[in-house]
Amino acid sequence: MNLWNPAVDHQPAEVMRCVTADDVRAGLARAADSGLGVSVLSGGHDWLGRSVRPGGLVLDLSAMRTVSVIGDVVIAGGGARSLDVMTAAEESGSSVVAGTVGSVGITGFTLGGGYGPLNGLVGTGADNLLAAEVVLADGRLAHASERSDPDLLWALRGGGGNFGVVTALHLRAFPIASVLAGIVTFGWDEAARVLQSYGDICAEAPDELTVRAGVTTLPNGRAVAFVAPAWVGEPAAGRQWMKRITGLGRPLTVDIRSKSFNDVLREGDAMFAGAGLHHDMAMRNVAALTTDVVATVIEAAEARSSPFSAIEIFPFHGAATRLPVESTAFAQRDGHFLIELIGSWNPDERSDQHWARDTSRKLAPYALPGGYPNLLGPHDDEQVAHAYGPNTERLLALKRRFDPGSVFSATPLPH
Ligand SMILES: Cc1cc2nc3c(=O)[nH]c(=O)nc-3n(C[C@H](O)[C@H](O)[C@H](O)COP(=O)(O)OP(=O)(O)OC[C@H]3O[C@@H](n4cnc5c(N)ncnc54)[C@H](O)[C@@H]3O)c2cc1C
Repeated sequence: MNLWNPAVDHQPAEVMRCVTADDVRAGLARAADSGLGVSVLSGGHDWLGRSVRPGGLVLDLSAMRTVSVIGDVVIAGGGARSLDVMTAAEESGSSVVAGTVGSVGITGFTLGGGYGPLNGLVGTGADNLLAAEVVLADGRLAHASERSDPDLLWALRGGGGNFGVVTALHLRAFPIASVLAGIVTFGWDEAARVLQSYGDICAEAPDELTVRAGVTTLPNGRAVAFVAPAWVGEPAAGRQWMKRITGLGRPLTVDIRSKSFNDVLREGDAMFAGAGLHHDMAMRNVAALTTDVVATVIEAAEARSSPFSAIEIFPFHGAATRLPVESTAFAQRDGHFLIELIGSWNPDERSDQHWARDTSRKLAPYALPGGYPNLLGPHDDEQVAHAYGPNTERLLALKRRFDPGSVFSATPLPH
Protein backbone atom coordinates (compact mmCIF):
# COMPACT_ATOMS: atom_id res chain seq x y z
CA MET A 1 0.00 0.00 0.00
CA ASN A 2 1.23 3.37 -0.96
CA LEU A 3 0.38 6.14 1.49
CA TRP A 4 1.45 9.75 0.93
CA ASN A 5 2.58 10.35 4.51
CA PRO A 6 5.36 7.94 5.64
CA ALA A 7 4.75 9.08 9.24
CA VAL A 8 1.66 6.83 9.18
CA ASP A 9 2.88 3.54 10.64
CA HIS A 10 -0.31 1.71 11.62
CA GLN A 11 -1.01 -1.59 9.87
CA PRO A 12 -4.22 -3.33 8.79
CA ALA A 13 -4.98 -7.01 9.43
CA GLU A 14 -5.94 -7.63 5.79
CA VAL A 15 -6.04 -5.91 2.43
CA MET A 16 -8.54 -6.86 -0.32
CA ARG A 17 -7.97 -5.54 -3.84
CA CYS A 18 -11.29 -4.46 -5.37
CA VAL A 19 -11.88 -3.68 -9.02
CA THR A 20 -15.66 -4.13 -9.23
CA ALA A 21 -18.66 -3.34 -7.04
CA ASP A 22 -19.03 -7.10 -6.48
CA ASP A 23 -15.48 -7.22 -5.05
CA VAL A 24 -16.46 -4.43 -2.66
CA ARG A 25 -19.61 -6.26 -1.66
CA ALA A 26 -17.57 -9.43 -1.01
CA GLY A 27 -15.13 -7.37 1.07
CA LEU A 28 -17.91 -5.93 3.22
CA ALA A 29 -19.34 -9.44 3.75
CA ARG A 30 -15.87 -10.72 4.75
CA ALA A 31 -15.47 -7.87 7.23
CA ALA A 32 -18.89 -8.58 8.75
CA ASP A 33 -18.08 -12.31 9.09
CA SER A 34 -14.66 -11.77 10.60
CA GLY A 35 -15.63 -8.83 12.81
CA LEU A 36 -12.93 -6.63 11.26
CA GLY A 37 -13.44 -2.87 10.92
CA VAL A 38 -13.35 -1.56 7.35
CA SER A 39 -11.55 1.27 5.58
CA VAL A 40 -11.37 2.27 1.92
CA LEU A 41 -8.11 3.12 0.16
CA SER A 42 -8.11 5.18 -2.99
CA GLY A 43 -5.29 7.68 -3.68
CA GLY A 44 -3.80 7.25 -0.18
CA HIS A 45 -3.33 11.02 0.34
CA ASP A 46 -5.22 11.42 3.58
CA TRP A 47 -2.42 12.80 5.76
CA LEU A 48 -3.51 10.69 8.76
CA GLY A 49 -3.74 7.48 6.73
CA ARG A 50 -7.46 7.11 7.45
CA SER A 51 -7.74 4.86 4.40
CA VAL A 52 -5.94 2.18 6.44
CA ARG A 53 -7.81 1.07 9.53
CA PRO A 54 -5.37 -0.17 12.21
CA GLY A 55 -5.98 -3.91 12.61
CA GLY A 56 -8.86 -3.74 10.12
CA LEU A 57 -9.72 -4.78 6.57
CA VAL A 58 -8.67 -2.37 3.84
CA LEU A 59 -10.78 -2.37 0.67
CA ASP A 60 -8.06 -1.27 -1.74
CA LEU A 61 -9.67 0.52 -4.69
CA SER A 62 -6.41 1.90 -6.01
CA ALA A 63 -6.65 -0.22 -9.18
CA MET A 64 -10.22 0.95 -9.90
CA ARG A 65 -9.01 3.78 -12.11
CA THR A 66 -10.94 3.51 -15.37
CA VAL A 67 -12.23 6.86 -16.63
CA SER A 68 -14.66 7.50 -19.50
CA VAL A 69 -16.20 10.65 -20.90
CA ILE A 70 -19.79 10.90 -22.13
CA GLY A 71 -20.57 14.37 -23.42
CA ASP A 72 -19.86 16.79 -20.60
CA VAL A 73 -19.76 14.12 -17.89
CA VAL A 74 -16.61 12.30 -16.78
CA ILE A 75 -17.20 8.93 -15.12
CA ALA A 76 -14.31 7.90 -12.90
CA GLY A 77 -13.65 4.67 -10.99
CA GLY A 78 -13.64 5.04 -7.20
CA GLY A 79 -9.84 4.71 -7.09
CA ALA A 80 -9.00 7.17 -9.89
CA ARG A 81 -6.39 9.85 -9.30
CA SER A 82 -6.96 13.51 -10.16
CA LEU A 83 -4.50 13.19 -13.06
CA ASP A 84 -6.36 10.16 -14.50
CA VAL A 85 -9.56 12.15 -14.60
CA MET A 86 -8.02 15.33 -15.97
CA THR A 87 -6.21 13.37 -18.69
CA ALA A 88 -9.47 11.83 -19.90
CA ALA A 89 -11.22 15.20 -19.73
CA GLU A 90 -8.39 16.90 -21.59
CA GLU A 91 -8.60 14.39 -24.43
CA SER A 92 -12.14 15.64 -25.00
CA GLY A 93 -11.09 19.31 -24.71
CA SER A 94 -12.44 19.86 -21.22
CA SER A 95 -11.44 20.08 -17.54
CA VAL A 96 -12.92 19.00 -14.23
CA VAL A 97 -12.59 20.50 -10.75
CA ALA A 98 -9.41 19.16 -9.15
CA GLY A 99 -6.76 20.49 -6.79
CA THR A 100 -3.14 21.10 -7.66
CA VAL A 101 -1.56 17.64 -7.17
CA GLY A 102 -2.26 14.90 -9.72
CA SER A 103 -1.76 11.86 -7.48
CA VAL A 104 -4.52 12.92 -5.05
CA GLY A 105 -7.49 10.53 -5.29
CA ILE A 106 -10.42 12.27 -6.99
CA THR A 107 -12.91 10.49 -4.71
CA GLY A 108 -11.40 11.64 -1.40
CA PHE A 109 -10.93 15.12 -2.85
CA THR A 110 -14.50 15.41 -4.19
CA LEU A 111 -16.34 13.82 -1.25
CA GLY A 112 -14.50 16.05 1.25
CA GLY A 113 -15.36 19.26 -0.62
CA GLY A 114 -12.61 19.89 -3.15
CA TYR A 115 -10.69 23.20 -3.11
CA GLY A 116 -9.02 24.04 -6.42
CA PRO A 117 -8.28 26.69 -9.04
CA LEU A 118 -11.75 26.38 -10.65
CA ASN A 119 -13.73 27.00 -7.42
CA GLY A 120 -14.29 30.69 -8.22
CA LEU A 121 -15.66 29.97 -11.67
CA VAL A 122 -17.69 26.77 -11.21
CA GLY A 123 -17.81 25.85 -7.51
CA THR A 124 -16.17 23.12 -5.47
CA GLY A 125 -15.41 19.54 -6.46
CA ALA A 126 -18.44 18.41 -4.44
CA ASP A 127 -20.70 20.93 -6.20
CA ASN A 128 -19.80 19.29 -9.50
CA LEU A 129 -20.45 15.73 -8.38
CA LEU A 130 -23.51 14.85 -10.46
CA ALA A 131 -23.99 11.25 -9.36
CA ALA A 132 -22.17 8.35 -7.71
CA GLU A 133 -22.37 4.56 -7.58
CA VAL A 134 -22.12 3.53 -3.95
CA VAL A 135 -21.99 0.13 -2.23
CA LEU A 136 -23.81 0.71 1.04
CA ALA A 137 -23.07 -1.01 4.35
CA ASP A 138 -25.84 -3.57 3.71
CA GLY A 139 -24.28 -4.51 0.34
CA ARG A 140 -26.89 -2.71 -1.77
CA LEU A 141 -25.56 -0.83 -4.82
CA ALA A 142 -27.09 2.66 -4.78
CA HIS A 143 -27.08 5.19 -7.61
CA ALA A 144 -27.00 8.56 -5.90
CA SER A 145 -28.23 11.39 -8.11
CA GLU A 146 -30.65 14.33 -7.88
CA ARG A 147 -33.32 12.04 -9.34
CA SER A 148 -32.75 8.63 -7.80
CA ASP A 149 -31.31 9.25 -4.33
CA PRO A 150 -30.94 12.98 -3.65
CA ASP A 151 -30.34 12.53 0.10
CA LEU A 152 -27.35 10.27 -0.48
CA LEU A 153 -25.96 12.63 -3.13
CA TRP A 154 -26.37 15.54 -0.72
CA ALA A 155 -24.42 13.69 1.98
CA LEU A 156 -21.64 12.66 -0.41
CA ARG A 157 -21.16 16.30 -1.46
CA GLY A 158 -18.91 17.15 1.47
CA GLY A 159 -19.66 14.40 3.99
CA GLY A 160 -16.63 12.32 2.93
CA GLY A 161 -16.44 8.54 2.64
CA ASN A 162 -18.73 8.05 5.64
CA PHE A 163 -21.78 6.72 3.80
CA GLY A 164 -20.55 3.80 1.70
CA VAL A 165 -17.89 2.72 -0.77
CA VAL A 166 -17.99 4.87 -3.88
CA THR A 167 -17.18 2.75 -6.92
CA ALA A 168 -17.80 5.45 -9.54
CA LEU A 169 -18.16 9.22 -9.66
CA HIS A 170 -19.97 11.20 -12.34
CA LEU A 171 -18.29 14.60 -12.57
CA ARG A 172 -19.31 17.66 -14.55
CA ALA A 173 -16.72 18.63 -17.19
CA PHE A 174 -16.28 22.17 -18.48
CA PRO A 175 -15.09 23.31 -21.91
CA ILE A 176 -11.84 24.73 -20.52
CA ALA A 177 -8.65 23.73 -22.32
CA SER A 178 -6.04 25.93 -20.64
CA VAL A 179 -5.24 28.13 -17.68
CA LEU A 180 -2.80 31.03 -17.31
CA ALA A 181 -1.01 29.93 -14.15
CA GLY A 182 2.25 29.71 -12.31
CA ILE A 183 4.19 30.93 -9.32
CA VAL A 184 5.96 34.12 -8.29
CA THR A 185 8.37 34.19 -5.33
CA PHE A 186 9.35 37.19 -3.21
CA GLY A 187 12.22 37.69 -0.73
CA TRP A 188 11.55 37.37 2.98
CA ASP A 189 12.07 41.09 3.62
CA GLU A 190 8.87 41.77 1.63
CA ALA A 191 6.88 38.71 2.70
CA ALA A 192 4.48 40.46 5.10
CA ARG A 193 3.71 43.28 2.69
CA VAL A 194 3.23 40.88 -0.24
CA LEU A 195 0.81 38.67 1.70
CA GLN A 196 -1.16 41.70 2.89
CA SER A 197 -1.52 43.06 -0.65
CA TYR A 198 -2.26 39.56 -1.93
CA GLY A 199 -5.31 39.59 0.37
CA ASP A 200 -6.43 42.86 -1.26
CA ILE A 201 -6.09 41.34 -4.74
CA CYS A 202 -8.19 38.34 -3.71
CA ALA A 203 -10.90 40.67 -2.37
CA GLU A 204 -11.17 42.21 -5.85
CA ALA A 205 -10.59 39.06 -7.89
CA PRO A 206 -13.27 38.08 -10.40
CA ASP A 207 -14.50 34.48 -10.53
CA GLU A 208 -11.96 33.69 -13.27
CA LEU A 209 -8.99 34.43 -10.98
CA THR A 210 -8.00 32.17 -8.08
CA VAL A 211 -4.71 32.97 -6.38
CA ARG A 212 -3.03 30.76 -3.82
CA ALA A 213 -0.19 32.10 -1.70
CA GLY A 214 2.02 31.07 1.17
CA VAL A 215 5.47 30.70 2.59
CA THR A 216 8.03 28.08 1.76
CA THR A 217 11.79 27.56 1.49
CA LEU A 218 13.68 27.39 -1.80
CA PRO A 219 16.16 24.52 -2.38
CA ASN A 220 18.97 27.02 -1.63
CA GLY A 221 17.61 27.42 1.91
CA ARG A 222 16.12 30.86 1.35
CA ALA A 223 12.70 31.51 2.93
CA VAL A 224 10.26 33.12 0.51
CA ALA A 225 6.66 34.19 0.15
CA PHE A 226 4.96 32.87 -2.97
CA VAL A 227 1.88 33.84 -4.92
CA ALA A 228 0.41 31.30 -7.35
CA PRO A 229 -2.28 32.68 -9.68
CA ALA A 230 -4.61 30.74 -11.97
CA TRP A 231 -6.66 32.64 -14.55
CA VAL A 232 -9.34 31.04 -16.70
CA GLY A 233 -10.73 33.75 -18.94
CA GLU A 234 -10.01 36.27 -21.62
CA PRO A 235 -6.19 36.36 -22.18
CA ALA A 236 -5.66 40.16 -22.24
CA ALA A 237 -7.48 40.64 -18.92
CA GLY A 238 -5.50 37.74 -17.49
CA ARG A 239 -2.21 39.34 -18.46
CA GLN A 240 -3.25 42.54 -16.64
CA TRP A 241 -3.89 40.57 -13.45
CA MET A 242 -0.54 38.78 -13.78
CA LYS A 243 1.16 42.17 -14.09
CA ARG A 244 -0.49 43.28 -10.87
CA ILE A 245 0.52 40.08 -9.11
CA THR A 246 4.17 40.22 -10.17
CA GLY A 247 4.11 43.88 -9.09
CA LEU A 248 3.24 42.95 -5.49
CA GLY A 249 6.94 43.36 -4.71
CA ARG A 250 10.33 42.74 -6.30
CA PRO A 251 9.97 39.13 -7.50
CA LEU A 252 12.89 36.73 -7.13
CA THR A 253 11.39 34.37 -9.70
CA VAL A 254 8.41 34.56 -12.07
CA ASP A 255 7.10 31.48 -13.87
CA ILE A 256 3.66 32.12 -15.32
CA ARG A 257 2.43 30.70 -18.62
CA SER A 258 -0.56 29.28 -20.37
CA LYS A 259 -0.81 25.55 -19.70
CA SER A 260 -3.30 22.73 -19.34
CA PHE A 261 -4.67 21.66 -15.96
CA ASN A 262 -2.77 18.44 -16.57
CA ASP A 263 0.46 20.46 -16.46
CA VAL A 264 -0.70 22.08 -13.21
CA LEU A 265 -1.28 18.63 -11.66
CA ARG A 266 2.03 17.23 -12.93
CA GLU A 267 3.94 20.21 -11.54
CA GLY A 268 2.18 19.67 -8.21
CA ASP A 269 3.26 16.01 -8.25
CA ALA A 270 6.85 17.00 -8.99
CA MET A 271 6.93 19.21 -5.88
CA PHE A 272 6.31 16.23 -3.60
CA ALA A 273 8.09 13.48 -5.57
CA GLY A 274 10.57 11.30 -3.74
CA ALA A 275 11.08 13.58 -0.77
CA GLY A 276 10.34 10.86 1.84
CA LEU A 277 9.37 13.54 4.34
CA HIS A 278 7.07 12.93 7.29
CA HIS A 279 4.14 15.31 7.78
CA ASP A 280 1.76 16.70 10.37
CA MET A 281 -1.03 19.02 9.29
CA ALA A 282 -3.51 21.51 10.69
CA MET A 283 -5.70 24.18 9.16
CA ARG A 284 -7.75 27.26 9.94
CA ASN A 285 -10.25 29.24 7.89
CA VAL A 286 -10.14 33.02 8.24
CA ALA A 287 -12.59 35.54 6.78
CA ALA A 288 -9.81 37.94 5.73
CA LEU A 289 -6.04 38.25 5.79
CA THR A 290 -5.97 40.93 8.46
CA THR A 291 -2.69 42.36 9.73
CA ASP A 292 -2.96 40.05 12.78
CA VAL A 293 -3.40 36.98 10.57
CA VAL A 294 -0.50 37.94 8.31
CA ALA A 295 1.72 38.70 11.33
CA THR A 296 0.89 35.27 12.80
CA VAL A 297 1.71 33.56 9.50
CA ILE A 298 5.04 35.39 9.26
CA GLU A 299 5.95 34.62 12.90
CA ALA A 300 5.05 30.96 12.37
CA ALA A 301 7.19 30.77 9.26
CA GLU A 302 10.11 32.26 11.19
CA ALA A 303 9.57 29.75 14.01
CA ARG A 304 9.95 26.72 11.70
CA SER A 305 12.82 24.46 12.62
CA SER A 306 12.51 22.42 9.42
CA PRO A 307 13.01 24.06 6.03
CA PHE A 308 10.43 21.66 4.58
CA SER A 309 7.49 22.99 6.59
CA ALA A 310 5.26 25.39 4.70
CA ILE A 311 2.03 27.38 4.80
CA GLU A 312 -0.43 27.46 1.90
CA ILE A 313 -3.36 29.84 1.63
CA PHE A 314 -6.34 28.94 -0.60
CA PRO A 315 -8.99 31.58 -1.30
CA PHE A 316 -12.60 30.36 -1.37
CA HIS A 317 -14.61 32.78 -3.47
CA GLY A 318 -16.92 33.35 -6.41
CA ALA A 319 -19.30 30.62 -7.58
CA ALA A 320 -18.36 28.39 -4.63
CA THR A 321 -19.74 31.00 -2.19
CA ARG A 322 -23.00 31.60 -4.04
CA LEU A 323 -24.68 28.26 -3.36
CA PRO A 324 -26.98 28.27 -0.33
CA VAL A 325 -25.29 26.54 2.60
CA GLU A 326 -28.03 23.88 2.78
CA SER A 327 -27.54 22.79 -0.85
CA THR A 328 -24.71 20.34 -0.05
CA ALA A 329 -23.30 18.80 3.11
CA PHE A 330 -20.14 20.92 2.61
CA ALA A 331 -20.99 23.94 4.75
CA GLN A 332 -18.10 26.43 4.67
CA ARG A 333 -19.86 28.61 2.10
CA ASP A 334 -18.89 32.13 3.21
CA GLY A 335 -15.91 33.61 1.41
CA HIS A 336 -12.74 32.72 3.30
CA PHE A 337 -9.08 31.82 3.12
CA LEU A 338 -8.14 28.27 4.05
CA ILE A 339 -4.75 28.41 5.75
CA GLU A 340 -3.07 25.02 5.51
CA LEU A 341 -0.20 24.39 7.92
CA ILE A 342 2.09 21.65 6.67
CA GLY A 343 4.69 20.52 9.20
CA SER A 344 7.25 18.42 7.28
CA TRP A 345 10.49 16.94 8.46
CA ASN A 346 13.21 14.57 7.53
CA PRO A 347 12.57 11.39 9.60
CA ASP A 348 16.15 11.48 10.97
CA GLU A 349 15.67 14.94 12.39
CA ARG A 350 12.09 14.87 13.68
CA SER A 351 11.91 18.67 13.87
CA ASP A 352 8.65 20.61 13.57
CA GLN A 353 6.47 17.70 14.72
CA HIS A 354 4.34 20.10 16.78
CA TRP A 355 4.73 23.21 14.65
CA ALA A 356 1.49 22.89 12.62
CA ARG A 357 -0.57 22.35 15.76
CA ASP A 358 1.14 25.19 17.65
CA THR A 359 0.53 27.53 14.72
CA SER A 360 -3.11 26.47 14.49
CA ARG A 361 -3.55 27.46 18.15
CA LYS A 362 -2.00 30.87 17.46
CA LEU A 363 -4.37 31.45 14.53
CA ALA A 364 -7.44 30.32 16.50
CA PRO A 365 -8.38 33.78 17.85
CA TYR A 366 -8.72 35.11 14.29
CA ALA A 367 -10.33 32.03 12.74
CA LEU A 368 -13.86 31.17 11.64
CA PRO A 369 -15.48 28.23 13.41
CA GLY A 370 -15.18 24.86 11.69
CA GLY A 371 -12.78 23.91 8.92
CA TYR A 372 -12.09 21.53 6.05
CA PRO A 373 -12.80 17.96 7.24
CA ASN A 374 -10.25 16.50 4.78
CA LEU A 375 -7.53 18.28 6.76
CA LEU A 376 -8.87 17.97 10.31
CA GLY A 377 -7.67 15.33 12.72
CA PRO A 378 -8.15 13.86 16.19
CA HIS A 379 -6.88 17.01 17.95
CA ASP A 380 -9.38 19.22 16.19
CA ASP A 381 -12.64 18.33 17.96
CA GLU A 382 -13.71 21.93 18.33
CA GLN A 383 -13.30 22.58 14.58
CA VAL A 384 -14.96 19.27 13.65
CA ALA A 385 -17.94 20.18 15.85
CA HIS A 386 -18.58 23.26 13.67
CA ALA A 387 -17.40 21.96 10.28
CA TYR A 388 -20.92 21.24 9.01
CA GLY A 389 -22.66 24.23 10.63
CA PRO A 390 -26.43 24.18 9.99
CA ASN A 391 -26.12 20.93 8.01
CA THR A 392 -24.94 18.90 11.00
CA GLU A 393 -28.29 17.48 12.04
CA ARG A 394 -29.30 16.36 8.54
CA LEU A 395 -25.86 14.87 7.90
CA LEU A 396 -25.92 12.83 11.12
CA ALA A 397 -29.50 11.66 10.42
CA LEU A 398 -28.37 10.44 6.98
CA LYS A 399 -25.39 8.73 8.55
CA ARG A 400 -27.79 6.79 10.80
CA ARG A 401 -29.98 5.94 7.79
CA PHE A 402 -27.29 4.79 5.34
CA ASP A 403 -24.74 3.38 7.79
CA PRO A 404 -26.59 2.54 11.02
CA GLY A 405 -23.79 0.29 12.29
CA SER A 406 -21.04 2.91 11.63
CA VAL A 407 -19.16 0.56 9.31
CA PHE A 408 -17.49 3.51 7.59
CA SER A 409 -15.38 6.10 9.37
CA ALA A 410 -13.53 8.31 6.92
CA THR A 411 -13.03 12.02 7.56
CA PRO A 412 -14.34 13.14 10.97
CA LEU A 413 -18.03 13.86 11.60
CA PRO A 414 -19.31 15.85 14.58
CA HIS A 415 -20.59 13.72 17.48
C1 LIG B 1 -0.12 16.59 -1.49
C2 LIG B 1 -1.58 16.85 -1.21
C3 LIG B 1 -2.24 17.83 -1.94
C4 LIG B 1 -3.60 18.09 -1.71
N1 LIG B 1 -4.21 19.07 -2.42
C5 LIG B 1 -5.52 19.34 -2.19
C6 LIG B 1 -6.20 20.39 -2.91
O1 LIG B 1 -5.61 21.09 -3.75
N2 LIG B 1 -7.50 20.60 -2.63
C7 LIG B 1 -8.19 19.86 -1.71
O2 LIG B 1 -9.38 20.09 -1.50
N3 LIG B 1 -7.58 18.87 -1.02
C8 LIG B 1 -6.27 18.60 -1.24
N4 LIG B 1 -5.65 17.61 -0.52
C9 LIG B 1 -6.43 16.83 0.46
C10 LIG B 1 -7.07 15.63 -0.26
O3 LIG B 1 -8.12 16.06 -1.10
C11 LIG B 1 -7.64 14.63 0.76
O4 LIG B 1 -6.63 14.18 1.61
C12 LIG B 1 -8.32 13.46 0.07
O5 LIG B 1 -9.10 12.78 1.02
C13 LIG B 1 -7.34 12.49 -0.52
O6 LIG B 1 -8.02 11.49 -1.21
P1 LIG B 1 -7.25 10.12 -1.57
O7 LIG B 1 -8.21 9.28 -2.30
O8 LIG B 1 -5.95 10.42 -2.21
O9 LIG B 1 -6.90 9.55 -0.14
P2 LIG B 1 -7.25 8.23 0.67
O10 LIG B 1 -6.32 8.32 1.84
O11 LIG B 1 -7.18 7.02 -0.16
O12 LIG B 1 -8.73 8.47 1.11
C14 LIG B 1 -9.11 9.60 1.85
C15 LIG B 1 -10.39 9.30 2.65
O13 LIG B 1 -11.46 9.07 1.75
C16 LIG B 1 -11.97 7.74 1.91
N5 LIG B 1 -12.17 7.20 0.56
C17 LIG B 1 -11.27 7.15 -0.44
N6 LIG B 1 -11.81 6.59 -1.52
C18 LIG B 1 -13.07 6.24 -1.19
C19 LIG B 1 -14.14 5.62 -1.91
N7 LIG B 1 -13.97 5.24 -3.19
N8 LIG B 1 -15.30 5.42 -1.27
C20 LIG B 1 -15.46 5.81 0.02
N9 LIG B 1 -14.50 6.42 0.74
C21 LIG B 1 -13.31 6.62 0.14
C22 LIG B 1 -10.88 6.99 2.64
O14 LIG B 1 -11.37 5.92 3.38
C23 LIG B 1 -10.24 8.05 3.49
O15 LIG B 1 -10.97 8.23 4.68
C24 LIG B 1 -4.30 17.33 -0.73
C25 LIG B 1 -3.63 16.36 0.01
C26 LIG B 1 -2.29 16.11 -0.22
C27 LIG B 1 -1.57 15.09 0.58
